[in-house]
Amino acid sequence: MTLAANLGYPRLGAKRELKWALESYWAGKTSAADLLQTAKALRLEHWQTQQAAGIDVIPSNDFSLYDHVLDTTLMVGAVPQRYAKLNQPTALDLYFAMARGTQQGETSFAAMEMTKWFDTNYHYIVPEIEPHQTYRLASTKVVDEFIEAKEAGIHTRPVLFGPVSYLLLSKSTSADGVPLDTLSQLLPVYVEALQRLAAAGADWAQIDEPCLVLDLDESARKAYADAYNQLGQVANIRLLIATYFGALGDNLELAAGLPVYGLHIDLARAPEQLEKVLAQLPAEKTLSLGVVDGRNVWRADLDAALKKVQTAVSALGAERVQIAPSCSLMFSPHDLNLETKLDDELKSWLAFARQKLDELAALKQAVSGGAEAAADSFTVSRAALKSRHASARTHNPQVRQRLEAVNASMLNRAHDFETRKIAQAKKLGLPPLPTTTIGSFPQTAEVRAQRSAKNKGALTQAQYDEFLKAEIARTIQKQEEIGLDVLVHGEFERTDMVEYFGERLTGIAFTQNGWVQSYGSRAVRPPIIFGDVARPAPMTVAWSAYAQTLTNKLVKGMLTGPVTILEWSFVRDDQPRSVTCRQLALAIRDEVLDLEGAGIQVIQIDEPAFREGFPLRKAEQNDYLKWAIEAFKLSASGVRDETQIHTHMCYAEFDNIIEAIGLMDADVISIEASRSKMELLDAFKQYQYPGEIGPGIYDIHSPNIPTQAEMEDLLERAAQVVPVERLWINPDCGLKTRQWEQVIPALTNMVNAAQALRQQLKV
Ligand code: GLN
Ligand code: ZN
Repeated sequence: MTLAANLGYPRLGAKRELKWALESYWAGKTSAADLLQTAKALRLEHWQTQQAAGIDVIPSNDFSLYDHVLDTTLMVGAVPQRYAKLNQPTALDLYFAMARGTQQGETSFAAMEMTKWFDTNYHYIVPEIEPHQTYRLASTKVVDEFIEAKEAGIHTRPVLFGPVSYLLLSKSTSADGVPLDTLSQLLPVYVEALQRLAAAGADWAQIDEPCLVLDLDESARKAYADAYNQLGQVANIRLLIATYFGALGDNLELAAGLPVYGLHIDLARAPEQLEKVLAQLPAEKTLSLGVVDGRNVWRADLDAALKKVQTAVSALGAERVQIAPSCSLMFSPHDLNLETKLDDELKSWLAFARQKLDELAALKQAVSGGAEAAADSFTVSRAALKSRHASARTHNPQVRQRLEAVNASMLNRAHDFETRKIAQAKKLGLPPLPTTTIGSFPQTAEVRAQRSAKNKGALTQAQYDEFLKAEIARTIQKQEEIGLDVLVHGEFERTDMVEYFGERLTGIAFTQNGWVQSYGSRAVRPPIIFGDVARPAPMTVAWSAYAQTLTNKLVKGMLTGPVTILEWSFVRDDQPRSVTCRQLALAIRDEVLDLEGAGIQVIQIDEPAFREGFPLRKAEQNDYLKWAIEAFKLSASGVRDETQIHTHMCYAEFDNIIEAIGLMDADVISIEASRSKMELLDAFKQYQYPGEIGPGIYDIHSPNIPTQAEMEDLLERAAQVVPVERLWINPDCGLKTRQWEQVIPALTNMVNAAQALRQQLKV
């Protein structure tokens, strides 16, 4: 019989119980026992939910108190040496010290680095591997949780993060060390873990090897063969290798041929690979079909999914096929039933993790001859698809027409940067080495209190607007006192840079409880871009224009760019992402033009997520860059030569996209640079960036107040790479998480550093 299988379930709990338990434990308000009790209750609840929904293959060890990669680091005993100096930590203290850093007396223990998990918004803790790393089975969490489930009457398929992906995602502690070189030392630990699982009664294990969807070099390919030749031999337990987030592509032969009993493939991201996999799969091997999208919020097209399942069943026989989500459901929000404010139509289009279980069960019923029992689910799925397709909310003729009418001249500024620079110099009258900030000023407790009072109805809109105006006026005055050249209004009206715009655009919805884990206890609630995007009215113009009335200095308008809105949202799956991005770009373009019309002469379009959309496979990267750059240019290019367009990106990884960033053709770009001590500017040495650059010289992620001398030092380094006539002076990012007491002296030092450099260079 064909089974319904799951690969992983959201960990935090429908009400984010784990978040609250973690944070209260960290704050010292509750005990370790309380935390572990909450975690245990969540695991049990999630197993029972899956069982009740009719899932046959239920995962265990998909749960984590913080991160499953960190769990793996503990399992294999790869605790970095610096934590050996911790004084008698409990297992839990050690775990959280690695995740978050800790302080013991005078000594502080830095956290391990955290980075993005493939192309998701989840972040994992990067393992640190010594050149001669030794490993041992240091934690039996995977076995313990299998037994825990078993004792609750649920037979699970334990999940392990695979050894090759683990090492490929690790970093070495030495410059020339290669983590993968330690594979042969690592494998015995996995062998032992699998043996213990087998002894505890596990008949299958899911081994996640998502790196099989990446471009792999020879050594990685060989590592896969070596690893599974060894792990595949462990007796009395069968392995299913799970791949997700893309197509196996040129790794298909390798992956299909590994000597294990099962393979999971992602058919949401790569539906076209089914035929090829069926052709390659050795006889006897089980194929798990990821037909329900684990990364998005849409109700599945059950008919289309069923067709795929039937194709596989005809080729392999029912016994060898499993029906699964494309990847763990931890990337989906928990339960749609908790949403009471979404309208019924929109709600009928959606499925969160809990609902996706029902979809898997319905597919299983349908393919196992229970078509009648599954009929309701299929009817609902068809109706949803039809209504989504026919709705004016997803197909707004006006938006479609505008999209059609986009032409090359709309994608480009009227003149090149050199020409614009002359026009801007004349119009804007900025000093050399101009100073500015990235947009937001401190979101104080008072700002948040006033906002929540307004949301609760305790404050009228007019009262709230008055409060915001006063905040803006105060902020403009402060910036004048500090002596900044290009001012901002402070973004007090915004909780979040995507949410603010999403709420003012049609085609985008917000949930009440659609949380998805970002890292540790942190979760985000991504907007849902469900329909055609349009801007019914200006979104920011009144605030920027008001700020401009208060000063003779230039006020910079602040917008979030189309690529960033796209990247930080759940995006409709019924048209290419590039099309949705273009719609967003048109909406932002309207706002840019309205700002210009209102007398705003400098406009910043933030694109901190530009790098995040970068595809995992080289072959797909150019296509992404092409449409993402075009979207940015479409949003920015409507303005006159003398209107200056800024953009901002936060991170420092520019090496392989620096030319693309040049092609965005912004007049000025500001970037994070202070933590790496301007190292990122190396990328700018090889490539002459055409526009002006503001490498951040004030690390706003730290409460420290940088001195004038520190910032002068950074500026001098920057001036060695960027010609002075193209250099701007600004912090790394927005100041919203800082306090006024930090911001005022820091910005004062920054302005003084600028003046010192101007004098020194006699510019
Ligand atoms: N303008 C935004 C701010 O200052 C930019 C934030 C970001 O880059 N993430 O907060
Ligand atoms: Zn930033």
